[in-house]
Amino acid sequence: MSTDYNDGRVAVITGASSGIGEAAARELAADGYRLALLARRADRVEALAAELGNGALAIEADVTDRDSIVAAAERVKNELGGADVLVNNAGVMLLAPFSSEQRVEIRQMVEVNLLGAMTTTEVFLDQLRDGGGDLVNISSVAGRTARPGSSVYNATKWGLGGWSEALRQELQPDVRVMVIEPGAVATELTDHITHADAKRAAEQLYEEVAITAKASPR
Ligand code: NDP
Repeated sequence: MSTDYNDGRVAVITGASSGIGEAAARELAADGYRLALLARRADRVEALAAELGNGALAIEADVTDRDSIVAAAERVKNELGGADVLVNNAGVMLLAPFSSEQRVEIRQMVEVNLLGAMTTTEVFLDQLRDGGGDLVNISSVAGRTARPGSSVYNATKWGLGGWSEALRQELQPDVRVMVIEPGAVATELTDHITHADAKRAAEQLYEEVAITAKASPR
């Protein structure tokens, strides 16, 4: 249900092109937020922005490319008046046993899940501070419980938790910092796993326990 408090507030969501980010966009739009939808797949966020309306912006941006985030922040400032909420949702879960063979994916997970969230936050921080904003970091149960084959993903989510807690103390009361730690949610997350055994195991687990990203009916 839309509330006066939410109406017109501006929320920026990274990784809004699928899964939890897309579902969050739909929920925030229904709550009266104006949205900036960031992702690398421009066609996906453009279609979502067109569907949601209310001036929603679709912005092609890669959280590992600071210039693209700076350009996104300028558009949010100029076209929506600045961000009140930033949802650091973009993430990859490239499960595999830890080894040199995985070194590219090791770096990718740290750069997207952890550094990407930090970069997006430092770029948008002045906008969030201006008027009292909310920073929402999407971690995971993998930020608390570790498993074989998940060490680097665990490290990124564990890191997100520690960084968020320090930041929460540092930024209050100007900016509220929150961490959300979902369990298994049926999204595209497991599609990108390249290690065959890890992918099979993850898909089997998700088939058994994953919930939908879609919210319950209002
Ligand atoms: P999806 O794969 O469906 O979504 C991931 C999103 O991240 C996509 O929109 C993708 O967009 C974006 N993304 C990936 N790399 C980049 C990048 N370099 N720059 C910008 N955006 C990027 O998975 P989920 O919806 O499940 O994942 C969303 C978040 O939720 C992640 O942080 C994940 O770790 C977390 N999570 C997921 C759980 C689950 O079981 N699904 C459980 C707990 C946490 P694009 O490719 O278009 O750039």
